[in-house]
Amino acid sequence: MAFAVEVGSARMWLWWNRICMLGPMRVVVDWELCESNALCMAAAPEVFEVRDDDLLYLLDEEPGEELRAKVEQAVRSCPKAALTIIE
Ligand code: SF4
Repeated sequence: MAFAVEVGSARMWLWWNRICMLGPMRVVVDWELCESNALCMAAAPEVFEVRDDDLLYLLDEEPGEELRAKVEQAVRSCPKAALTIIE
């Protein structure tokens, strides 16, 4: 997806183009694999929460770009490989 930014500079256009190309990321949990050890919550507490019932709750299925590094860290830290990011 591309569109013109009337008052923007080339840098602005590239920024918008990059955001459009990336699209929203979507976090998927394989609930069969998850063992609720909360390592993902340690990496991205805005997105993952293991509650007193020992279950993982996905707080934000489509986190914003500002959380990408944390979510990617959560994916890497999951010992069960239960997390996937879909672009
Ligand atoms: S790190 Fe993996 S196994 Fe642990 S709670 Fe998160 S998704 Fe589940």
